[in-house]
Amino acid sequence: MNKRDYYEVLGVSKDASEKEIKSAFRKLAKQYHPDVNKAPDAAEKFKEAQEAYAVLSDESKRRQYDQYGHAAFDSMNGGAGFDFSDFDFGDIFSDLFGGGFGFGGSGRRTTASRKYKGADKVMRVNLTFEEAVFGTKKTINVNVAEACSNCHGKGGLGEKTCSRCHGTGTITAEQRTMFGAFMTRTTCPSCNGTGSTFESSCSKCHGSGKTSKNTDIEVKIPAGVDTGNQLRLAGKGDAGSNGGPNGDLYLEFYVKDHELYVRDNNDIYLEIPLTIPEAVLGCKKEIPTLYGNVKLSIPAGSSTGDKHRLKGKGIEDLHTGSKGNMYVVLNVAIPEKLSRDQKKLFEALSETDLECNNEFKKIRDYVRKNS
Ligand SMILES: [Zn+2]
Ligand SMILES: [Zn+2]
Repeated sequence: MNKRDYYEVLGVSKDASEKEIKSAFRKLAKQYHPDVNKAPDAAEKFKEAQEAYAVLSDESKRRQYDQYGHAAFDSMNGGAGFDFSDFDFGDIFSDLFGGGFGFGGSGRRTTASRKYKGADKVMRVNLTFEEAVFGTKKTINVNVAEACSNCHGKGGLGEKTCSRCHGTGTITAEQRTMFGAFMTRTTCPSCNGTGSTFESSCSKCHGSGKTSKNTDIEVKIPAGVDTGNQLRLAGKGDAGSNGGPNGDLYLEFYVKDHELYVRDNNDIYLEIPLTIPEAVLGCKKEIPTLYGNVKLSIPAGSSTGDKHRLKGKGIEDLHTGSKGNMYVVLNVAIPEKLSRDQKKLFEALSETDLECNNEFKKIRDYVRKNS
């Protein structure tokens, strides 16, 4: 068998730098990986590139190769070239294939040295209308995972290096496909990729390394929050793994309805009932706002649905601090029950010609024409 020169395989010069070699291999791996490239010779090219890279990326192996060529490794490997089955391609492949490559789709990527951020948590916090509008301080009880105190988050006692993967957390194996054989790296099943095993599993956390902790947190809730807003409390989520940082805690607010006010972003709507005389003659009304009562002049001839704006009597914006408006919406109430005197007054009123505007006339004429 005529083996190609390793430099030729990678397409680099004899004095190529480490960086050039790595980048050349990345390019070839991307091009010829049998998962990506279904050409019949792709697997062979991929394997060839793997072998070349395994040698040239290692300073001492490269020196041997420069001096003796393929013969440097032939003697120990029956003429098949350098045996790269123990070589760790993991970082390059995870860069190339988005991290999921060669891990059997399990999604586990724990290795001995890898730090993991703890999980983020979301907690719903109920607020009254006033608490949301003006801000408040609350004590919130949360359940988060913290590192188990018995095993210091490791999940077991009597830690030792995993004998199966020798502490690397991964196993490199040759995988045979119809396109030929190529190398894959999988998470070590003995240690689940942590690189270590334990003499005994921790009884306190049942091997998970985490225990649940119930704590009270003092939280200052800013003025102006609304339903669906979230407040992030950095580092208040679950504990990380292998010394990784804690996750974050997100408080998601749910604001209860107010008995009078209806909120629309930073604006507030309040419906005010008027009697018929108040609407017809006009009046002055005490209006309850978020910031105390104010007097509002209702002009004569007001109708249901008329809107009056009270500028700046809305809610302070969470971010800008500027205030929204309050809208007073009129609702002319028709009495369902009348006293005898009131009834007389309405009857007297109906004797007068109240049907004064064009709408009345329009309908009247239409009815006449139709009869
Ligand atoms: Zn292992
Ligand atoms: Zn434990």
